[in-house]
Amino acid sequence: MLELMEELYPICRSITGEGVRETLKIIQTRIPLEVREVPSGTKVFDWTVPLEWNVSDAYVMNRAGKRVIDFQSHNLHLMSYSVPVRKTMSLEELRPHLFSLPAHPEWIPYRTSYYKENWGFCIRHADLQRLSDEEYDVVIDSTLQAGSLTYGELYLPGKVSDEVLVSCHVCHPSLCNDNLSGIAVAVMLAETMAARSRRYSFRFLFIPGTIGSITWLAQNEQRVPHIRYGLVLTGVGDAGSVTYKKSREGNAEIDRAMAHVLRYSGEAHSIIDFFPYGYDERQYCSPGFNLPVGCFMRTPHGQYPEYHSSADNMDLIRSESLVRSYAQCLQAFELLEGNRVYVNQNQKCEPQLGKRGLYRAVAGQQENQSRELALLWVLNLSDGRHTLLDIAERADLPFGQIQSAADALGEAGLLKECRRPEKA
Ligand code: ZN
Repeated sequence: MLELMEELYPICRSITGEGVRETLKIIQTRIPLEVREVPSGTKVFDWTVPLEWNVSDAYVMNRAGKRVIDFQSHNLHLMSYSVPVRKTMSLEELRPHLFSLPAHPEWIPYRTSYYKENWGFCIRHADLQRLSDEEYDVVIDSTLQAGSLTYGELYLPGKVSDEVLVSCHVCHPSLCNDNLSGIAVAVMLAETMAARSRRYSFRFLFIPGTIGSITWLAQNEQRVPHIRYGLVLTGVGDAGSVTYKKSREGNAEIDRAMAHVLRYSGEAHSIIDFFPYGYDERQYCSPGFNLPVGCFMRTPHGQYPEYHSSADNMDLIRSESLVRSYAQCLQAFELLEGNRVYVNQNQKCEPQLGKRGLYRAVAGQQENQSRELALLWVLNLSDGRHTLLDIAERADLPFGQIQSAADALGEAGLLKECRRPEKA
């Protein structure tokens, strides 16, 4: 995951353009992503796919011919979607187009102007203060032309057409936690799920934030009813503990699965309610879709000082955070895949477990108690109306233990699986 992030880090990405294509091409070396192009001008609900933006060079040069701000040295120096400019201007004229962070004078801020024609440069505050009052050559060699919006999609069919959606954004330039960490974890989850036999279908989307999810939803409305669970992955590499933001409904199975995994992870975490701000969950959870999609992250956006600045670089990333994030999402997928409903085949009083080798031979041994309790809970609640997660929650036992009990009871002929209805 770290290697992939290092490789993607230098690329200048935006919501459209070559940077996204280059990024998806690199991801394709790991997973068989399909790359889709949606032409500029395409209507997607209340939005329109914008013109494609590309940049080859941008700088501010002083009279001595020195580039005092240089896109080549860091792509955050140029405000994303800046229109082409070639002008000589005074510092006073230039100043409204310069953005800095006085509280962090050594960091370059990240600014965008996607939907309003504008241009600007982002600069370390310390460098801004050193600019002398003279004339500057301002050059932005960019293009804003009819092209397309590019996104990547990997669909892994399962035994049923109901699907698990994993969505992450690919539109930020050199920023690590906000953007690249989500990509890295999503790629690894996709690699893992691709190698397994799956009950549910899995769909991984690598899309530009906001306009990407709106575009996907607008063009795939017929697929939407199949989305049974979903996660937006973002900011999963910093040192902070996990934050899970619930779906709009708040009690969807994905919300309960994630809460269960986190609870038994033994790690600090927080679970927060949905609010209509943040990442692409805003679109998936808009009232016309109201999908069961939560957002898995570590420190929420805006709550760490490095957010949207050059300090969100590889130094902010902890490999153990990436690994733990991956593992917890995978456990949630495993829980969803294993969350079956059974019917007890011996409902009149408890079946005699001892004669089937399922009960302790010697009474009074402490260590087997929770295993036996799990067997009794599964037998009692397997009436065709409770999932294994329902049982785990009510029994206050980890899902894995309830699942093993169900497996053992199934082998003994005491349980029969009852098909859960498909969503669509
Ligand atoms: Zn961001």
